[in-house]
Amino acid sequence: MDTARRSISYWHDSLPTGDLASLRPPLPGNLDADIAIVGGGFTGLWTAYYLAKRDPSIRVVVLEKEFAGFGASGRNGGWASAFLPASWEQIARESSRDQALRFQRAANESIDEVGTVAAKEGIDGHFAKGGYLRVATSPVQWERLNEELAHARAWEHTEDDLMLLDRSEARARVTADRVFGGLYTPHCAAIHPARMVRGLATAVERLGVTVFEGTEVTAIEPGIVRTVRGDVRAEVVVRALEGYTASLPQYPRALVPIYSLMMATEPLPDVLWDEIGWRDRETLNDERRFIIYAQRTADGRIALGGRGAPYHWGSRIDPSYEHPRGVHDALRRTLVELFPALHDVAVTHRWGGVLGVPRDWFPSVRFDRDTGFATAGGYAGDGVTLTNLAGRTLADLITDTDSDLTTLPWVGRESRPFEPEPFRFVGINAGFHLAEWIDRREQQTGRPARLLDRAMGLLTGH
Ligand SMILES: Cc1cc2nc3c(=O)[nH]c(=O)nc-3n(C[C@H](O)[C@H](O)[C@H](O)COP(=O)(O)OP(=O)(O)OC[C@H]3O[C@@H](n4cnc5c(N)ncnc54)[C@H](O)[C@@H]3O)c2cc1C
Repeated sequence: MDTARRSISYWHDSLPTGDLASLRPPLPGNLDADIAIVGGGFTGLWTAYYLAKRDPSIRVVVLEKEFAGFGASGRNGGWASAFLPASWEQIARESSRDQALRFQRAANESIDEVGTVAAKEGIDGHFAKGGYLRVATSPVQWERLNEELAHARAWEHTEDDLMLLDRSEARARVTADRVFGGLYTPHCAAIHPARMVRGLATAVERLGVTVFEGTEVTAIEPGIVRTVRGDVRAEVVVRALEGYTASLPQYPRALVPIYSLMMATEPLPDVLWDEIGWRDRETLNDERRFIIYAQRTADGRIALGGRGAPYHWGSRIDPSYEHPRGVHDALRRTLVELFPALHDVAVTHRWGGVLGVPRDWFPSVRFDRDTGFATAGGYAGDGVTLTNLAGRTLADLITDTDSDLTTLPWVGRESRPFEPEPFRFVGINAGFHLAEWIDRREQQTGRPARLLDRAMGLLTGH
């Protein structure tokens, strides 16, 4: 299938004219390089970018099955946030409280690094650091927001990192319906993900990296990458496949592909924006278990996404899974719940993609000098910024550059593999149903479902 021409997402459809008109040439045959990177998403391209910056003489090639930005990196919610999928407690248990806080600071700083590189490289990725607003749309959610604030304060988050907003302060930012209050952090930017990742691919090429598109990798071995178009021999091989990792037969249980679904409205008229506000393009969600995420796009649409699609047996990925009607319809209902004035607004795009989740939700960056194997991933739904931190860290590890990044607590760790089927299928989908059930129960009873919450934590390992 000619994937370049298939409508993949609103983001791909709104790339500058001609951007996807043709693919970059594929690998022409067997090739020698110094570093071969498998996967042309943010992980692969940030790694290539910082490697080329550290040492322009290194021969770096990126091998991408479809085209740069085809995967999650081109189709996500566009939140360049500083969220860590693992909890601070989880990180501190394995390292220390100081290390957990250091990791968090590094993530916070990486948002600005993304914006700085985009500006320096002339990437018009619609980067807007308007922060992140999480609203409570029920008393139970409000209670939970207050608990989260207390938790963050105990982890040294000051008023500069996170502030509680009352109803009118929250609605002064975004006039959503039924808002009891909100939490606001300045540590988040909204981006146009496809513009950002495609711009990054062009930037790495300018630095001398070769990006081969339409080149499917079939196996990774020490010092060699096998593709359908020939072999690449390289001292270092970087696996940067995230949600697609299990599609290589070697890695069936390292990361599971979880679908996240999105939709975008038509551009809203000014009169609606006057009513809604949302002037700083803050990223927005509420406090429900079944995660949703929204942004106001630079061209005045609302792009809204959420989890809810089932996990598929054997970690299977298929374009037909990107359009489950029920989930997209539920997203539309959520949009109208938050903004009743939008009941007649047209939804112009619906899409989905896979993110990669490790068994314990702990992302990692690894490099083994003996085998030359490197990898980074497991960001779950938080990879837009973390891929930048991972790319810089991998570049430092590979070039043996002494830096603070190479001792962050995600470096060198490996999550245990997922259970084989059928346990994986049953466990993951049971976790999803439980999340949905908790939201419904809390809505009905008006009370927090703490026991069910704990059960979900045990089930998901999160
Ligand atoms: C719908 C959705 C919304 C999301 N929203 C957010 C968000 O708002 N904020 C956030 O921080 N994170 C979000 N995420 C997660 C984030 O997008 C990812 O964590 C991040 O983009 C991962 O980047 P990556 O380069 O590791 O993986 P990918 O971007 O998935 O790149 C992997 C690449 O490998 C290629 N590939 C696959 N198989 C092969 C093969 N055999 N050979 C060669 N190449 C291959 C793929 O085509 C793909 O281009 C979202 C994800 C999705 C799907």
